[in-house]
Amino acid sequence: MPAKYQSPDYYRLDDLLSDEQKMTRDTVRAWVEDRFLPIVAKHYQAGTFPLDLVPQMAELGLFGATLPETYGCAGMDQVAAGLIMQELERGDSGLRSFASVQSSLVMFPIFTYGSEEQRARWLPRLAKGEAIGCFGLTEPDAGSDPGSMKTRAVRKGDAWVLDGAKMWITNGTLADVAVVWARTEEGIRGFLVEKGTPGFSAPEMKGKLSLRASVTSELVFEEAVVPEANRLPDAKGLRAPLSCLNQARYGIAWGAVGAASACYDEALRYARERIVFDGPIARFQLVQEKLVWMLNEITKAQLLVWRLGQMKDAGTLKHAQVSLAKMNCVTMARECARLAREIEGANGILDEYVAMRHMLNLESVFTYEGTNDIHKLVVGADITGFEAFRASTQRMESPLGGGKGEQ
Ligand SMILES: Cc1cc2nc3c(=O)[nH]c(=O)nc-3n(C[C@H](O)[C@H](O)[C@H](O)COP(=O)(O)OP(=O)(O)OC[C@H]3O[C@@H](n4cnc5c(N)ncnc54)[C@H](O)[C@@H]3O)c2cc1C
Repeated sequence: MPAKYQSPDYYRLDDLLSDEQKMTRDTVRAWVEDRFLPIVAKHYQAGTFPLDLVPQMAELGLFGATLPETYGCAGMDQVAAGLIMQELERGDSGLRSFASVQSSLVMFPIFTYGSEEQRARWLPRLAKGEAIGCFGLTEPDAGSDPGSMKTRAVRKGDAWVLDGAKMWITNGTLADVAVVWARTEEGIRGFLVEKGTPGFSAPEMKGKLSLRASVTSELVFEEAVVPEANRLPDAKGLRAPLSCLNQARYGIAWGAVGAASACYDEALRYARERIVFDGPIARFQLVQEKLVWMLNEITKAQLLVWRLGQMKDAGTLKHAQVSLAKMNCVTMARECARLAREIEGANGILDEYVAMRHMLNLESVFTYEGTNDIHKLVVGADITGFEAFRASTQRMESPLGGGKGEQ
């Protein structure tokens, strides 16, 4: 469609942003428009990530944006970092996923739990995009319950021997360094496993119908030897990987607003231009109801993530508040994409329109980094004090009747 993207801003959220934050957002927005959107459909169809864009993303300071300048990072505030994710996901969830993994799931743990040597070795290269990272927590039989992971690391002198497999790992095949979580005798620990380590391979997973412009891989460890110097010394227990996921979920909440905004903008322009029954479909009440629903939800989500950013900068943000935001924003974006596709009729299934691509991507976003239902349980536990993750494995007699003694 001819007209340029106009980000919805019904409540003048721009007034809440500093000039610097607006400049960061506008720079990333223009880059996504000029460099990414013209090639995304080709990559989505091919199932590839546009690796040649990585140096440009690094140049813009998009990797580890909130980390200190001493490591070659931009030292931005959290709202600015959120706005980056919003604009990247306006392009594609795969693009935002690449940046989220590099920043929140690789640079953050190295910065937070790594030794000074590990920080100095990896952070500047990751910031410049000269090295790519991935984060291996999920396993074929351990997704929502990562504490049940089977990957083991056994200490042998000055090294660790890793055995096991990870699955669904974004950037796995591309990565120079994998942040891998494994069970040891002392509990769960994190390791930096470098590309080329004997016994370590990262085959790409094929057949995805969602997040196609993103590389997803298995990580396989067959007696892979990792030096003690590559263990993250301050990462102890499951709390460490969960804290990384919390960082990434913050970005996802912002990102989902970007995906929803792209869909809303496209659907609004389409509705004004598409002539059916002698006039634009935007004049029909049923079409307006969909557009208003989208704007309403986007506006609430914009306020929510902005407030989230303020609390993150103030250091008062609780992980359950991030869960609520991830849950809310992704749910509303998923519905916005579906409604936009609906408004666009048959055209909506084409790759020259963004709605269907976002709709398919958001299925992954809905599930990864904690499924929507898991985040409900996190918030539920926070407000009630009762954790509902583990149901009793004892079978109830049917509550609908038909139990013992019934005729
Ligand atoms: C494209 C993509 C990229 C990914 N990238 C990464 C990555 O880079 N690194 C990484 O480590 N992982 C990654 N993941 C994995 C992702 O985090 C997991 O898929 C996710 O945690 C869910 O795990 P699962 O798929 O095994 O689902 P399961 O845990 O098997 O859940 C299946 C269903 O059961 C529900 N369920 C589970 N437990 C409960 C409960 N207690 N109560 C109610 N319902 C429940 C879930 O909500 C879900 O609907 C990625 C996934 C995808 C799709």
